[in-house]
Amino acid sequence: MLLLTPGPTAVPENIRVAMSEPTIHHRTPEFSEIFRQTREKLKKIFKMDEVLMLASSGTGAMEASVLNLCQKKALSINAGKFGERFGKIVKACGYELVELKYEWDTPANVEDVLKALKKHKDIDTICVQICESAGGLRHPVEAIAKEVKKINPEITIIADGITAVGVEDINVEDIDVLISGSQKAFMLPPGLSMIGLSKNAINKIEQGGKGYYFNLNTELKKQRQNTTAWTAPTTLIIGLNAILDDIFSIGLDKFYKQTELRSKASNEALKGIGFKIYPKVPAPSMSAVYHEKADEIRKILKNRYEVNIAGGQDHLKGKLFRINHMGLIKPYETSWVLNALELILDELGERKYDGTANKIFNLYTKERF
Ligand SMILES: *Cc1c(COP(=O)(O)O)cnc(C)c1O
Repeated sequence: MLLLTPGPTAVPENIRVAMSEPTIHHRTPEFSEIFRQTREKLKKIFKMDEVLMLASSGTGAMEASVLNLCQKKALSINAGKFGERFGKIVKACGYELVELKYEWDTPANVEDVLKALKKHKDIDTICVQICESAGGLRHPVEAIAKEVKKINPEITIIADGITAVGVEDINVEDIDVLISGSQKAFMLPPGLSMIGLSKNAINKIEQGGKGYYFNLNTELKKQRQNTTAWTAPTTLIIGLNAILDDIFSIGLDKFYKQTELRSKASNEALKGIGFKIYPKVPAPSMSAVYHEKADEIRKILKNRYEVNIAGGQDHLKGKLFRINHMGLIKPYETSWVLNALELILDELGERKYDGTANKIFNLYTKERF
């Protein structure tokens, strides 16, 4: 079965092998050295002053970031399940919430954010997804962050980059906290989250730190010494260290370029056979397609073509399918899915099969992979 859901993603064989070694103790010079190497490599991908690794899924890093960095009131952008989650976290941490809601296909805009800041002068934190995975939507996070910082550089920008870090070269100039998780672009099993921090965020954490398990001040002190506050997810970190080597041996630019091409070629191929790309601004991490028979399509894809892709949630349940582009995916894997989708359209009586999907995919990806 080909796993092409936008998280979890398939774990490459060499990484599974790297993680199959006997468990080593986390308080040893051997593990500290692995931790140090991983930190250095992560800093290069995040392009930020500090990185932290936590034993949690991505949501844990979202909660840790909000808990430690928000002071009183947060503005959260909600254009899908993960934006909604940020709002719930803000409230669960006991902070005030101002929420900007959008349709799941519609990116946030800078003016709305600035208007909200004018109305609520005490907003100290902004929470936003770079890619809102619920609809495969790209928010203009960099533009929002830039304008917000012009008004008040003290406002903390928390960006959920769980389906953006390792996908594209994010401009982190005005981002304070950048969140990522192991099971998306990093191609690892779930259970490890990562947080990139700006100087501004580091200062705030050093002067504060809240909570116990997720106290980022405690973690920062420990991780600077190449250890963790609590038992580290050693196996996942060993896997991360190994996958980062693979990514760097390809070259970051080429890695991002391949993802972008795969994504663009897929969207063009899907449009070419009559599918509707759901988001108004698609993120490169996935192709999200709106179709009334999305679940039937997914079922045939799984049973006959052995491909597992994701569906939609809430009001998009049964009406959306999402194909992953994150990580190291062979062109022939994506090509297989696109061809299968074209065959399924024929089977459903919607469009006669003529190989258009792969023709377009190949045209866009020719000589470039
Ligand atoms: C997957 C994902 C998360 C994190 O979910 P977990 O299940 O907690 O790892 C958060 N935000 C976005 C945008 C995601 O795609």
